Amino acid sequence: MSRSPRQTVIAGNWKMYKTSATAKSYVDKLVPLVADAKPLVYLSVAFPLIPFLSQAAQGTNIVIGAQNMHDAEEGAFTGEVSSAMLNDAGAEFVILGHSERRHVFGETSLFVNQKVHRAIKEGLQPMVCIGETQQQREQGLTEKIVKEQLLESLDGITANQLETVIIAYEPVWAIGTGLTATPEQAQISHAFCRDVIRSAWGFEAADVLPILYGGSVKPDNVRHIMEQEDVDGVLVGGASLEADSFAQIVNYQTLKG
Ligand code: PEP
Repeated sequence: MSRSPRQTVIAGNWKMYKTSATAKSYVDKLVPLVADAKPLVYLSVAFPLIPFLSQAAQGTNIVIGAQNMHDAEEGAFTGEVSSAMLNDAGAEFVILGHSERRHVFGETSLFVNQKVHRAIKEGLQPMVCIGETQQQREQGLTEKIVKEQLLESLDGITANQLETVIIAYEPVWAIGTGLTATPEQAQISHAFCRDVIRSAWGFEAADVLPILYGGSVKPDNVRHIMEQEDVDGVLVGGASLEADSFAQIVNYQTLKG
């Protein structure tokens, strides 16, 4: 089957790891390893690292982003960071609704939706995460949950605005657990997400929307996941922490097996 012209995105999520010294040696190592990569290379890092890394990434094919933000323009929200601050720091995209935000910090799809609107207004590319828990999958609720999260998180977004959005389907049970969805499971969920988008925003919007898979992606499983028709990239946590393994994932087409 021919693939539509969706961009392939390989994104790393460093979570709450690394300081400027370890980030610097990582980037020095990563830049030459991914310089000829065909996919877009995204790195989502902790707030304090954004100014340094966005400078270091200038003139390279690495795009630096954030892992979260607040939905308000500004205000008395101690400990929070706004979209304007991210822009100012040099971030180009922002992960919103990551499962750790939803499940550890209790963020709802409504809150995520407000952040998506704010990010788009600010010119930041939102990478919106969705995914079911183990229990929800076992109860046969995967499609219901994924559909609800998609429609609620993207409520009020126009088809034009959707062109700037990336979706990351990340089954919660596969994040940081070593359990990966099989390529077939990933494909079924991705195709379902695309159907939901198609019904709500139309064929064109669904066709160009990149849907990434996330959940224990490693150099040894990335190829089969990337072979799936509706998988347009991966969001990688643990295996993005080492430049070598992240570079192997970015260069997945050259991996054997
Ligand atoms: C993530 O943090 O989005 C993620 C998918 O983590 P991991 O690759 O470690 O499962």
